[in-house]
Amino acid sequence: MPAKQRKIALMGFRSVGKSSLTIQFVENQFVDSYDPTIENTFQKTVKIDGQEFVLQLVDTAGQDEYSILPQSYYMNIDGYILVYSVNSQKSFEVVQFVYDKLLDMKGNIGSIPVVLVGNKCDLGFEREVPVEAGKKMAEKWKVPFLEASAKENQSASKVFEQIVNTIERASGNVPEK
Ligand code: GDP
Ligand code: MG
Repeated sequence: MPAKQRKIALMGFRSVGKSSLTIQFVENQFVDSYDPTIENTFQKTVKIDGQEFVLQLVDTAGQDEYSILPQSYYMNIDGYILVYSVNSQKSFEVVQFVYDKLLDMKGNIGSIPVVLVGNKCDLGFEREVPVEAGKKMAEKWKVPFLEASAKENQSASKVFEQIVNTIERASGNVPEK
């Protein structure tokens, strides 16, 4: 089968690790200081269950509860990785805000392929968001949930596999697991 192109946006509050997760996945390294203001698109080809995917990853500069999301975040995006950081309650509130905005703009029809990610799980001692709270939110949205650490390379590639699987399932290409 020819490679499939999929475009994925990473969204969430600033400094939660959107760029770090992306760079860990694409370049297999942890960059400690990446310009938080840039929006960048990365590309990586992966093989999942025998199918090749060319992934375009839109690493957004981040949102807060006042953000007006540009059209480009709604158009031509196949799926969304919504990232918060387990040591920031505020970032957890922001993913809820972003999710609501996405639903609104999609006219609340059906569901949007989303994966919810609690990043920086290596910072357990600073934790403000319990694992259970993330799970609960994801259950409410009926989306997959993962905790990850870009720093320790925990579940970083899993996050991207999950969103691809979720997109495929939503488009009816894969039977529900
Ligand atoms: P973004 O604004 O969401 O793109 O966040 P960045 O990827 O730029 O990361 C913001 C800060 O958090 C940087 O100093 C990163 O080094 C740090 N960071 C990112 N991911 C992790 C992680 O998993 N664990 C820890 N401890 N720090 C992280
Ligand atoms: Mg960034």
